[in-house]
Amino acid sequence: GSSSRPKYRLTILPGDGIGPEISKVALDVLCCISSEEGIDFEVQEKLLGGAAIDALGTPLPDDTLEACKDSDAVLLAAIGGYQWDNNEPHLRPERGLLGLRAGMGVFANLRPAVVLPQLVDSSTLKREVAEGVDIMVVRELTGGIYFGQPKGFGKNSNGEQIGFNTEVYSVSEIDRIARVAFEIARKRRGQLCSVDKANVLEASQLWRQTMTIVAKDFPDVELTHMLVDNAAMQLIRNPKQFDTIVTNNIFGDILSDEASMLTGSIGMLPSACVKNSGPGLFEPIHGSAPDIAGQDKANPLAMILSVAMLLKYGLGEVKAAERIEKAVIQTLDNGFRTGDIMSAGKKLVGCTAIGQEVIRAIQANH
Ligand code: ATP
Ligand code: MG
Repeated sequence: GSSSRPKYRLTILPGDGIGPEISKVALDVLCCISSEEGIDFEVQEKLLGGAAIDALGTPLPDDTLEACKDSDAVLLAAIGGYQWDNNEPHLRPERGLLGLRAGMGVFANLRPAVVLPQLVDSSTLKREVAEGVDIMVVRELTGGIYFGQPKGFGKNSNGEQIGFNTEVYSVSEIDRIARVAFEIARKRRGQLCSVDKANVLEASQLWRQTMTIVAKDFPDVELTHMLVDNAAMQLIRNPKQFDTIVTNNIFGDILSDEASMLTGSIGMLPSACVKNSGPGLFEPIHGSAPDIAGQDKANPLAMILSVAMLLKYGLGEVKAAERIEKAVIQTLDNGFRTGDIMSAGKKLVGCTAIGQEVIRAIQANH
């Protein structure tokens, strides 16, 4: 009936800097795909980061966290800016994001790194090496050396001051990230490379063992193992060999940044933080870009591709997601570029205009 509850309830967090501009474009794209595909969304907007500090005196209002936990998926633009950089730690925008991730219990960070043929010259790699790169890095986000106990400062037996951290993983923590990664690899090209340091670290030995056990439940996925030092090298030498990579928190932190920098286009890359069930958090990898905020210059394509990830990995609406991805590629094929990805012979447009081109391309293709 006409009064029935919408199929999906989404929360959008525009945040700071260019966040509101790219959020507006993302909402227009959501609205378009909703009418094209007949998917009913209800979207509520909430405060996070600097915007929440200014309005409510906290980077993560309770109302925001509750709304996010009650949603089917959450779309975040970007947070942060110079005006909050000297605040006390509990009044920094970044605290809001960390608190949101923890509060939502999302333990898997998905970071695609794709070199689009239209932007191959933005890559930091030689054309032959960059062409065709399409990698998904799955990073464990809530365990490992960033959280392991014991940690702290102390004295060694010589009385010298020391600082120490502990890399800890339980079988269940490895098992659940493994299952997320295998499911993703299964939907991609069926190859999963688990990255560890099993020649030195016990936690990595357990990681490798557990990955191998979980692999038995995914006979259609080919599991390989690689040491992290080799993986860092192979990502630059021959990135095309990788499909899906799964790794722990610290190695994933480093390798996902390395992989994304191979593409050379920060304004193009989406990401997601998910768990097995419950809402995921979808956001561009770039920051709030305060240097270009409010000028309609920002590239909204990473945000639009975050909407596509939300549809694909958050709601299972694969067709709608693929229509958005195709429209982004079509827009680039049509020659439209924002300043950050501009090159000779292309048409320079702003945030709003390139968003409208994506919408036109969605409507033109079924
Ligand atoms: P973080 O907030 O994650 O620490 P940062 O401050 O290191 O990020 P960004 O805010 O991502 O970095 O900005 C880095 C540079 O990239 C800036 O010059 C910014 O203008 C540019 N940039 C980032 N995102 C975009 C975008 N969507 N479109 C155009 N330029 C962008
Ligand atoms: Mg920043």
